[in-house]
Amino acid sequence: YIVCIYYSGEMFGLSVCDVSTGDFYITECKDANGVTDELERYVPKELIYSPYVEMSGLKLSELCERLKVCRTTLSEDYFEAGAARKIIKDHFKNKAPVLDEVQLLCCGAMMRYLYETQKNDMSHITDIVTYAGGRFMILDNYARRNLELTETLREKNKRGSLLWVLDKTKTAMGARMLRSVIEQPLLDKDLIEERLDAVAELYEKHIDREEIREYLAGIYDLERLAGRISYRNAGPRDLIAFLNSAKLLAPIKNAGSVFETGLLKEITEGIDVLNDLCELTERAIVEDPPLQIKEGGIIREGFDKQVDELRSIKNDGKNWLLKLEERERENTGIKALRIRYNRVFGYYFEVTNSFLDMVPKEWIRKQTLSNAERFTTEELKELEDKILHAEDRLFSLEYDLFNEVRETIASNIERILKDARAIAKLDWLASVAYVSERNNYTRPDINDNGIISITNGRHPVVEQFIGQESFIGNDTYLDNERNRVAVITGPNMAGKSTYMRQTALIVLMAQCGCYVPADKADIGICDRIFTRVGASDDLAMGQSTFMVEMTEVAHILKCATKKSLLILDEIGRGTSTFDGLGIAWSVVEYICDRKKLGAKTLFATHYHELTELEDKLEGVNNYCIAVKEQGEDIIFLRKIVKGGADRSYGIQVARLAGLPKSVLDRAHEIVDLLTDNDINAKVRDNARTITRARGSAKKSGKDDAAGYGQMSLFWGGENGSVTSPEENDDNRDDMQVSPELEKVAAELLSIRVDDLKPIDALNELARLQEILK
Ligand code: ATP
Repeated sequence: YIVCIYYSGEMFGLSVCDVSTGDFYITECKDANGVTDELERYVPKELIYSPYVEMSGLKLSELCERLKVCRTTLSEDYFEAGAARKIIKDHFKNKAPVLDEVQLLCCGAMMRYLYETQKNDMSHITDIVTYAGGRFMILDNYARRNLELTETLREKNKRGSLLWVLDKTKTAMGARMLRSVIEQPLLDKDLIEERLDAVAELYEKHIDREEIREYLAGIYDLERLAGRISYRNAGPRDLIAFLNSAKLLAPIKNAGSVFETGLLKEITEGIDVLNDLCELTERAIVEDPPLQIKEGGIIREGFDKQVDELRSIKNDGKNWLLKLEERERENTGIKALRIRYNRVFGYYFEVTNSFLDMVPKEWIRKQTLSNAERFTTEELKELEDKILHAEDRLFSLEYDLFNEVRETIASNIERILKDARAIAKLDWLASVAYVSERNNYTRPDINDNGIISITNGRHPVVEQFIGQESFIGNDTYLDNERNRVAVITGPNMAGKSTYMRQTALIVLMAQCGCYVPADKADIGICDRIFTRVGASDDLAMGQSTFMVEMTEVAHILKCATKKSLLILDEIGRGTSTFDGLGIAWSVVEYICDRKKLGAKTLFATHYHELTELEDKLEGVNNYCIAVKEQGEDIIFLRKIVKGGADRSYGIQVARLAGLPKSVLDRAHEIVDLLTDNDINAKVRDNARTITRARGSAKKSGKDDAAGYGQMSLFWGGENGSVTSPEENDDNRDDMQVSPELEKVAAELLSIRVDDLKPIDALNELARLQEILK
């Protein structure tokens, strides 16, 4: 895509064009975030914009660097209303859409830029589609990448992505449309249902669907062909590809006449079978034309009288040559005498050196080679003249006729593009129906009440790798009331990430109008899906792993709404235990607070302390993934159950991964010591930790809690032995706590805030202060 941005001072206009297919869209955005979202959705190759965009607050350089977009500032005269109106009117004629000022300037500049750079009449751009922001679910770059919608996170392969599973399309157009469908889930219930109805009918009527898919397999990329035709660089073989594809439109339309649902009827009834263009191309162009356009052999016999005449002279000429060759062979007695042709010397007799003495005297020498001589005669010259003349005229006539046919097709480009879109739609819908049938997907119910209820949901990609029978389905229930946030704990490798991603993918697939991998699904429409998954750094952009993580979290907390679905995997793992836990804890509090956010959230964590939030915050529920212990081993049951896990089984998983035994034994030792020293209890005791930090900050005169950040595993014990933090308190002033503070902390914790009247709270506060004075 190429994208043009115009900024009016209040509003952004954004026009988007795919120059190869002629797709042209225009939309408006209220703010820079909206523009960023759109750019992340389209990931254009080139960006052009009005000068003021640079002052609009849009972080252009950062964005372009991240999306690897090449950008150009256009001068102001590109955005002049009169010129824009004229260019749009001249190009789209009576199909010129009604555009407001911002849209007009943006489209006008884009058209002018395209005319200037493409040096072409751009006749394959036939329409401007206006769409309102808010028609599609917004998926930022992180979500797109993390959910592996069109390529895998690490290898950037299509294999392993959602697109890979769903894409069984038969045409390039269908594949492209499916990709954009996946990247742009819908928000409107009716539009989603319309697609689901179509998929349902294609699912049911599988014999008709498969018949259509067989026809689709023979269709070339009509969009690209149309682009080549209107750029006038389509060759004869392109026209035959067009013909062979267009000939399949009628049988597709015919097979599609069985469909009854709105979208499928609209598609199939709208197919223009292009009889006139097929008839013309078939009559004009030979079945298997050459690649070259200027060397004849393109026009079919019977299409043009003059071509037939010239061709017969050319062919008769060949016979004349054969006869002359035969005669001269007899006259001269040179057995291997041949008449040959090349572009430079034309026709000539070639005689090898051993026969030179047999050459008649009147023959005229044309060229000497090391092993042969080339000659001509008066008769050969005459014949050559006749043949070459006819050939030249034939080639140029064929070229002109080919151009005429191409022109006629080019003037019908709009009809071809309309068909191309219909075929693309039919193809992706049929592909999804085919995959749904093969993979046992179900039709989701779509609701507006915010409930996401999935029974036996599966991960569409993972199940392809391990086999459907081996994948353990899991349920999900989220709503905007008591089930807003699911805190998911459980061992490493248990399946937390898989579970969370599968929920997001099922919601996304449903909103695309696809069937979903589940026994049953009722999906409340989400406005956005946010993901924060795993660790990654962006060193090129100057960001460390933790910085990337926090930037993503900040973005989510800023942009999410109550209607969003948040997938947060291991927030806070990139920093010290205490800082990380603190951040994770307060992020859950923030998300859960309906006044601040209240978004539906799946939150996976190894901080088991977070399970305490279930009792403290309404809307938070604990889940964990069940495992069975068998001696030293653990068996992953992959089943999500209510309740929190108290262990991560990290060492068992590390053993499965092949860590050396000595390392594992030592790890066990350290864990035992840490557990004995009840460090976990300290971490869990949030209030007490905070009190300690305040105490130490007060003591040191600094308001800096960094000192209590990370507990080292090795508090300076000799010979590798581990000593407890208490033993080592001499070195760690900030861990010392006065008895008063301990007392206040204990009392604070025992207060039941919910039962306290405001006046009692104030009295209590004063009393606690008194203790510390
Ligand atoms: P960690 O905490 O270490 O990140 P995790 O709990 O997020 O681990 P996943 O990465 O989701 O674990 O899952 C690990 C592997 O387990 C997956 O790659 C997949 O092969 C398998 N798996 C996950 N869920 C299921 C399931 N429901 N049924 C069968 N296999 C599963």
